[in-house]
Amino acid sequence: MKEKTTLRRAAAVHLRAIRELHRVTPQHFPVLTLYCLFGAITPYVTVFFSARVLTELATLRRAEILWRWVLAGVLCTGFAAVAKAALHRRCNTLLNDLYGRKEMLFVHKIFRLDYSELDKQENHDLREQIKQNEQWSGWGLMHVPQLYSGAVTGLLGLLSGAALTVSLFTAPVPNGAGWLVVLNDPIFALVLAAGILIISILAGRLSARAMQCWGDFSEEATFGNRRFGHFGFLGRDKRRAIDIRMNDQQRLVRAYWSGGSVFGVHGVFAKAARGKMGVYASLGVCITTLTTGMIYLFTCLKAMGGAFGVGSITQYVGAVTALSKNIGDLFRTWGTVKSNAAFLKPVYQLLDIPNSMYQGSLTTEKRSDRKYEVEFRNVSFRYPGSEQWALHNVNLRFRVGERMAVVGENGSGKTTFIKLLCRLYDPQEGQILLNGIDIRKYRYDDYMHIFSVVFQDFQLISQPLGDNVAGSCRYDREKVETVLRKVGFGERLDRMPNGLDTVLYRDFSETGVELSGGEAQKVAIARALYKDSPFIILDEPTAALDPIAEAEIYARFNEIAQDKTTIYISHRLSSCRFCDEILVFDGGKIVQQGNHDSLIADVDGKYNRLWQAQAQYYEKEQEESTSEADAASHR
Ligand code: ADP
Repeated sequence: MKEKTTLRRAAAVHLRAIRELHRVTPQHFPVLTLYCLFGAITPYVTVFFSARVLTELATLRRAEILWRWVLAGVLCTGFAAVAKAALHRRCNTLLNDLYGRKEMLFVHKIFRLDYSELDKQENHDLREQIKQNEQWSGWGLMHVPQLYSGAVTGLLGLLSGAALTVSLFTAPVPNGAGWLVVLNDPIFALVLAAGILIISILAGRLSARAMQCWGDFSEEATFGNRRFGHFGFLGRDKRRAIDIRMNDQQRLVRAYWSGGSVFGVHGVFAKAARGKMGVYASLGVCITTLTTGMIYLFTCLKAMGGAFGVGSITQYVGAVTALSKNIGDLFRTWGTVKSNAAFLKPVYQLLDIPNSMYQGSLTTEKRSDRKYEVEFRNVSFRYPGSEQWALHNVNLRFRVGERMAVVGENGSGKTTFIKLLCRLYDPQEGQILLNGIDIRKYRYDDYMHIFSVVFQDFQLISQPLGDNVAGSCRYDREKVETVLRKVGFGERLDRMPNGLDTVLYRDFSETGVELSGGEAQKVAIARALYKDSPFIILDEPTAALDPIAEAEIYARFNEIAQDKTTIYISHRLSSCRFCDEILVFDGGKIVQQGNHDSLIADVDGKYNRLWQAQAQYYEKEQEESTSEADAASHR
């Protein structure tokens, strides 16, 4: 954040932000421009009419003219005030709308982002940083409307002020005014104009320098805010409530509050406010009074010499003071644009990450015969930033309609295999082929459509049950009900107060229904079935199910999966027995492949060892329950 940004780059990045925000809420910038116009000219309208009234009062005092000036002044000022108020309300509404909608820029990007990019810690940090900058002090995208308003108001105010001020310099002091005629010398006008300009610029730059302190401490503030975001709300987190109580972690949370915060009275900002930040800001305000003094002096002397009347004094003093303020505001805005450019940098780092997976153009033919064949050819993969191969030289071929199980110890590469199959990552070596064609050549969306996956950490949304299963508010109710019943959720569905319209969880509805882990898993499996893809992948499909529900699902799986290819990742080897093909992973390689009987026959093989380990466990469990039963019968 501390690196210097050129003015050109800062301007370019802000113009881009304006274009993008304009696309998100098209009305906002036009309405804001109108609001700035009224904001800029209103002070001058008042100054102009007051001056006319005063001049008339100080000279001819004609009632009908006075009356006209007063009426015109009241009408114009009143109209400007009403218009400004109405535009202010509209601007606020649109700004609130923009605040929410600008998230769409990130959401669209993140939805389209390659999963491998999304999974990178550095990109996760980038997202957090953007959020923290915005929450901390509105830096980043949401600072842009404010800067736009500062720039437009400053510019329009400058032009209006200049128009009202020209005659201050051009109106001559009459020749009979003695020494005051020296004021007619253009040098005075030039010195005054230059003085006003220099002081206004200096004031603007000092204020901008004070603002720059925010940028200088942005890293500390971002981190401080991140810590606050985590620790500050731990006590309120429902999911952590049990853990915190049972493990006596309250002290860890309290420790955060007893430590110093960057935002506290001893933090870097409070220190800066007492030091250079405060000094710059105060100096910026103080020196503007010099301009006011200079203007008063020049204007009064010219009026004394008879260049204009008392009414014009009001006009010139008012107009030049406002003008000087506008010049200062413009320079402050310019300085802040530079500071904010540093906060827009992570925004565009994120939005500009290329989506390399979307380059394929072939469509995956929607084959009515569902004859898909997948082949892994010498596939090797390691995670970004890792030295270790997570998969090494994997070769495999399978057809639609097969039941395949993937087994192996933790960390052996099962989930990675699935992630590559679903193209969440691309392998560094080798190829994955669908019907003989490298999957990178297919359109990404199309390819994704042929897989339904239930990952272990699946997530349901606090929306109606039916919407969850279909992934949409409009869906085929009969089909949703059928898949729910197929996975054994029928009885629970019948007990739900509003059937498919029952909202899951209580986040947004008091009548929402909390599901048990097993019930949620059934809904997730139903969701995968509803998608009706030729491949259905279940990662630990029955881990949260009770033994009865598990047996029920397996007993009916042929009916449930029909002609789909099903791939199970499972730790319970007993549940893989009915699969046509079992892949045994070890250290990122497929070390064995075959059906249960052939694999178990290899007594030195990995599968046999895994099987024996689990069988011993089951036997032990069985022995224990038998001896408990014996003991009970002897009592
Ligand atoms: P399994 O599903 O068999 O438990 P994984 O496929 O999840 O195994 O992991 C295979 C290897 O890849 C492990 O050594 C694991 O530590 C590593 N790994 C998994 N996910 C990541 C990741 N996102 N980044 C780096 N390494 C990972």
